Amino acid sequence: MSLAAVIDVKGWCPGVLRPMQSGDGLLARVRPWCGALRLDAAKGLADAAERFGNGHIDLTRRANLQIRGLGDASVRGLQDAVEQLGLVDRDAEAEAGRNIMVSPLAGIDPAEADIRPIAGALADLLAHDTGLQRLPSKFGFLVDGGGPVSIAGERADISLKAMGRMMAVGLDTPAGTDWVGSTSIDEAADVAVAIARIFIGLARQQDRLRDLGEGPFRRLRAIVRKGLGPIGGPSIESRRLIGVKGFAVGVATPFGRLEAHQLRSLASLAGEAGAADIRLSPWRALYVGARDAAAAQTLLKGAHEIGLIVDANDPILRIDACPGAPACRSSSVDTRRTARRLAASPFTGSIHVSGCAKGCARSAPADLVLVGEQGRYGVIRNGTARDLPQRILDASEAGVLFDV
Ligand code: SF4
Repeated sequence: MSLAAVIDVKGWCPGVLRPMQSGDGLLARVRPWCGALRLDAAKGLADAAERFGNGHIDLTRRANLQIRGLGDASVRGLQDAVEQLGLVDRDAEAEAGRNIMVSPLAGIDPAEADIRPIAGALADLLAHDTGLQRLPSKFGFLVDGGGPVSIAGERADISLKAMGRMMAVGLDTPAGTDWVGSTSIDEAADVAVAIARIFIGLARQQDRLRDLGEGPFRRLRAIVRKGLGPIGGPSIESRRLIGVKGFAVGVATPFGRLEAHQLRSLASLAGEAGAADIRLSPWRALYVGARDAAAAQTLLKGAHEIGLIVDANDPILRIDACPGAPACRSSSVDTRRTARRLAASPFTGSIHVSGCAKGCARSAPADLVLVGEQGRYGVIRNGTARDLPQRILDASEAGVLFDV
C-alpha cells in the first residue's frame, strides 16, 4: 500500500456547526471575520473554551482558532456561545467555504494598503453564491496589503496582493504561488470568485488548485491571464513579525497552542494598549495594533509574562509540531514533548515533529522531520512528513538525533 493511501485525509474541515472528532473530544474551528477577533469576542471565546471544552485553543495555519475537548453534551452550548459572539455563518456549508486569510496588519500598518474591504467583499460573495459551495472545503483565498509584514506566498489556492494601485493575482501550484497578472482593487474580489468558478468547471471532486494537473491548470491559467493586466516587481514572499514594529506587536504561541486564560489576558492587554481587536495569521502568531510605541512595549512585556513568545529568535519558533498524542487519535507519540526536547538541542535548522504521515503542522519541507508510527519516530532529512523515513528511532532516542 502506498504511503499516500494510508494517510487519513478526511477531505473536509471542521467548523463550529460541524465539529470534528479528535483524540481529546470534539474540536470546533472558529473563523473570525477577515482574520480579526474583537476583544469582547476573544474573551467570550476564552470563556466558552473553558466552560464547554478543555480550555486548549489551537491557532491554525489558516489563521483560525480551534476550540478543543468538547463533549457530545457540551458542543451545543459552545455553538450557542459562538453564535452570540457573531462568529457563526448561516449553515455549515457557508462556514466551510469562508476560507480567507488576510494580512494581519491591514488597517494598522500605514505602510500597507487596507485590503479589508476586498476581503469582506470576497466573504460576502462566498457566503451568498451557493454555486461556490461546490468548492472543496480546503479551498482557500488570501488577501494581502503589500506591506512589510506580508502573508503573500503562504499557501492559498487564489491569492490577491496589493501592488500600488493594483492587486496582483496568484494561483497555487505545486511549486508555490504563480503570480499571473493584476487587476484593479475594485474588481479584485470578483476576479477571485470568477477564477474559483472556472476551477469548479475543470476540477474533480476534492481537487485543490495545485492538484489540477498540467493540462487543466494550463487551460485555467490561459483563461485567467486573458482578463488580467501585466504584473512586475520583485518576487513575493511572506514575512513574519515577532516583537514590535512601530505600534504593531506580534506574539506567537508554542506550537500554536493557546490556553484560554492566555487569550483572555491578551485581550485585556490589547484593550489597555488601545487596540480594538486581535489579528490572526497563518504563522500561528497573533497581532495587535497599539496606540503608541510605549503601549506596544507594555503589551509585549505583558504577553511575555503570560507565556507567549515575544522573541523572533526563540528556538521553539524553528519547530512545527502537531498536537500529537493524546490530543489526536492518529498519533501514537507525544509530539510536543519531543519538540520541546529538540528545541533545547544545538541543531539550528528547521524541524517538523508530526504525529503521523499526514503532516498537519507543516506542508513545506523541513531540515529534520520526525514522523510518529506505532510509538516510534521515522526520521527524514530535508523532506516532508509524507516522505519515506531514512531511519526509525524510539521516541526516547530523540536526543541522539543529531548524530544521524
Ligand atoms: S499530523 Fe498530527 S494532528 Fe494531523 S492527523 Fe497526524 S497526528 Fe493528527
